[in-house]
Amino acid sequence: MTIRRAVTLSIGDELLAGETLDTHGRTIASALTARGCRVIEHRVLGDDASGIASAIESAASSADLVVITGGLGPTLDDVSREALAEAMNEALVEDGEARAHLDRWYAGRGRVMPAGNIRQAMRPVSARCLENPNGTAPGLQARLGEALIVVLPGPPKEMRPMLDGVLQAELPGSPRPAIVVRAFGIGESDAAERIEPLMRRDTRFPVATTVSRSLLSARIRGDQGDDLDAIESLAAQVEKAWHPFVFGRDEVTLPMALGTELARAGRTITTAESCTGGLVGAMLTEVPGSSGWYPGGWVTYENARKIEDLGVGAELIERDGAVSRSVVSAMAEGARRAAGADFGVSISGVAGPDGGSKDKPVGTVWIAVADDAGVDARCFHFSGDRSVVRDRAAKSAVQLARFRLRGDGAELLWQRDVRS
Ligand code: AMP
Ligand code: MG
Repeated sequence: MTIRRAVTLSIGDELLAGETLDTHGRTIASALTARGCRVIEHRVLGDDASGIASAIESAASSADLVVITGGLGPTLDDVSREALAEAMNEALVEDGEARAHLDRWYAGRGRVMPAGNIRQAMRPVSARCLENPNGTAPGLQARLGEALIVVLPGPPKEMRPMLDGVLQAELPGSPRPAIVVRAFGIGESDAAERIEPLMRRDTRFPVATTVSRSLLSARIRGDQGDDLDAIESLAAQVEKAWHPFVFGRDEVTLPMALGTELARAGRTITTAESCTGGLVGAMLTEVPGSSGWYPGGWVTYENARKIEDLGVGAELIERDGAVSRSVVSAMAEGARRAAGADFGVSISGVAGPDGGSKDKPVGTVWIAVADDAGVDARCFHFSGDRSVVRDRAAKSAVQLARFRLRGDGAELLWQRDVRS
């Protein structure tokens, strides 16, 4: 039977209490969608056996596949196993192999199995256990009427590989091809206008755009493997229309893109950060292998640090203020010199909520990139609260460094024309 419609159930009191974010709903929905199966309903339920049982019964009557996560832990509040048995109207029996896995798990770690864990080896009579290589709780797979029911443990690092295993077995074939084009520094409506014909709903593979944490994505999805050429050509059109703001595809992040380009050019970059307090350094060092192109940098928050650590002239700060073209330029050049790096990037701004003035309201941030040809300093007015201002400033700095390295000159969104 082909699986076309799915219902997903996320189980756990912690999800309803707002303590844990239900990320499985999204993970599973995107994995199912990629394999051509439509999620028709997603529910979040507490750890209540009869509630879960009736949700399973109703899901099984409307879907081909029901994926349930959570509630397989060893403690008494985890009752998804019992709920499945109730929905199937079957008794729970101990599964020999699952029990052996549990015994091996504890023996291998030199620990005694707590009595409660034995529950984890139980399954409804006609169900089967799914091996969990990364934890104690096996998953469960069963039939209820026409529907396939799968129960997976809650911890993401256990759930994810087991989900992949189930989908490969039950929804074979290659996933629907998809390409995500990623960009930063261009507004969504401007970006959408540039690719307007590609976004029309009546085209074969409409391009869809989204913005998350100021990062713009264009997602292009095919129906089957053969569509790869078609979506590849669409992705190339988006990349051209959004140039030079595009930094990569799919899983590529902005700092990753900068790192790859620095490594390819055999160049290095250093940072001097004021209002972002090290965010750029953190972004850069998140990239594996960043020690090859990022020697480190400075967080120079108060003026004395800018003066003593980076050699910024006290008279510049006195004359123009710490948030100014002259100071941010001197920070970038000072850091570059002190680190012996090819590029120096610096940030100084008013992140808020206090500290704004008429001339320099909250959100005013100067960013500079220095290299051996000179320094490019630009003024930005970011909207949003303190964390948004800092995040946008850090990302803008990384994008400006990329532009400088590549010789791209475009203005970023939020940029303002000011003299000092
Ligand atoms: P479990 O013991 O199977 O109920 O789940 C154990 C842990 O997995 C929970 O404490 C959560 O941290 C995590 N978890 C369970 N369900 C979800 C979900 N829907 N999204 C994200 N994490 C979850
Ligand atoms: Mg739980």
